[in-house]
Amino acid sequence: MKTARLHAVPVNNQTLVELYSEAPLPTRHGLLRAMVFRERGTDKEHVVAVKGDVRGFEGVPVRVHSECLTSEILGSLKCDCREQLEHALDLVGHAERGAVLYLRQEGRGIGLGNKIRAYALQARGADTYEANRQLGFQDDLRRYDIAACMLKQLGVKSVDLITNNPLKIASLESEGVPVRRRIPSMAQANPHNIGYLRTKRERSGHLIDLSDKTTA
Ligand SMILES: [Zn+2]
Repeated sequence: MKTARLHAVPVNNQTLVELYSEAPLPTRHGLLRAMVFRERGTDKEHVVAVKGDVRGFEGVPVRVHSECLTSEILGSLKCDCREQLEHALDLVGHAERGAVLYLRQEGRGIGLGNKIRAYALQARGADTYEANRQLGFQDDLRRYDIAACMLKQLGVKSVDLITNNPLKIASLESEGVPVRRRIPSMAQANPHNIGYLRTKRERSGHLIDLSDKTTA
């Protein structure tokens, strides 16, 4: 029976998602455990790939990754999401324990269709942030309360966060997940994404070192 959606954003983030299913998953990165969480009262699903035993541990290597169909499925070179996801899975897969959270919030939360509309504007010269604003969206609609809720349900005490994004660290901490340290995420520049990476660095304070890659 389908449950009616009562609250858009419940007050206590412990209640935002619930574990729906889990199973061992052999992968190119070793044996992981796939755990699917559902947003309470909806059929929206998020997935975590877990390595080893994370419950009760401090400094668990964690990547909080937002879905990017264009890069991860279609091989788009306009962003570096696929490389960052692969890097995180590889890192976690080789660690004793860790987790990669895969959040279904495409295009910084604006959805796939609107992301492609933004790309159309970018093809006419707008950068990522200008395009979103022209479409009437804020710079970044991604939310991390769901990720925090998932990490709490996994029993992770603190994380070593795989990211270049200071905002992500601050967001998780404000949601009650201590970040012990940052593990730099891989950012590989190519002629198509160099502008995007520079914009991320200059407009959002991303900690990306492009010094020796800008000629790629
Ligand atoms: Zn992307």
